[in-house]
Order: sequence, then structure tokens, then C-alpha cells
Amino acid sequence: MLTLSLPDKLNPWQLAAENGRLTGDLALTELPRLVALLDQSSGAVSVTLTAGMDGQGQRFIAGHLRTTVELTCQRCLGSLQWPLDVTVHLGLVHSEAEADRLSGDYEPLLAPDCAMTVADLVEDELLLALPQIPRHADRRECEAHGYGAPDAALITEQRRPFGSLASLLPDSKRSR
Ligand SMILES: [Zn+2]
Repeated sequence: MLTLSLPDKLNPWQLAAENGRLTGDLALTELPRLVALLDQSSGAVSVTLTAGMDGQGQRFIAGHLRTTVELTCQRCLGSLQWPLDVTVHLGLVHSEAEADRLSGDYEPLLAPDCAMTVADLVEDELLLALPQIPRHADRRECEAHGYGAPDAALITEQRRPFGSLASLLPDSKRSR
């Protein structure tokens, strides 16, 4: 399969004017703000974006970003493979005022009429898509990472205080 390389930079307005496409893979190592939140930085993001102008004259960039990142489960602290399939639907705007007028279908992209880095564009969208508190969907996966699993030492610890408590109780209560 032919892997297309992405340009480092693009002018979003120009891309939209040309009905351009942006297709290829971007290494996660190109996305330092994202990698800072991950367990490991190997892997790549598959980028499939098209740009153009809709029926209302709104310039847009739309498509998908797909990758799988490794996060830390906040329940068991084990590693967690987290697939991301981010739907991108950005409306290009020049100002905050234009962003307010944007139709609800679009997320505003405040884009200067000059080149911006593709990595920044992709990274912002992925950061928004990360879960606030990542956890394994199935608790049994957490248990496989050692969460809440019966621990012999812990059980012994728990029994001891009950044992000494029982010896202090009057016979009537102990027999219950
Ligand atoms: Zn977990």
C-alpha cells in the first residue's frame, strides 16, 4: 500500500479553495503535547481530510483522524489501549465574531490566512478527543492488571484485628 506523506504545513484557506485533500500518516512523536499524556509514543495517526466550500459558502476541513494511543487506566494504573476515531468537521473563520455566526454543524477553526502546521491541527483535535478519566471498559481487565485481586498478605492482615476483637467480646456476643 502506498503511504502518502503529509506536508509539514498548509494554508487551510488555500486548501479549501482548491478542494484539497490531506491524506497520510503522522507519527505520534510529531505531537509532543499529546505524547506527554500517553504511556508510550510509538504509532501513527492516519489522517484523511478533505477541504472545500459548502452550499452556504462556508469553507471547511472535514474527515477523520484514526489512531490507537496507550493511556494509563485510572482505576488499576495498568496500560490501556485506547482507539481514537475522531470526526473532524471544522469551519474556517477569520475571527471570534465569525466563529459565533458559524452553523452548529461546524467546530470553528480560527485560521490565519497563512501556513499553519499540520501537526498542530491534528494534535488539537486529538487532545479534545482524549477521555478525561481513561478506564478499562471491563472491570475484569483491571483485575487482570492486579486491581482488587485477592491478595494473601492483605487477607491475613484483615483477619488479625477481627481475631483480637473477638477475644475481647463477652461470650454471649461471641457465640452469635
Ligand atoms: Zn484498568
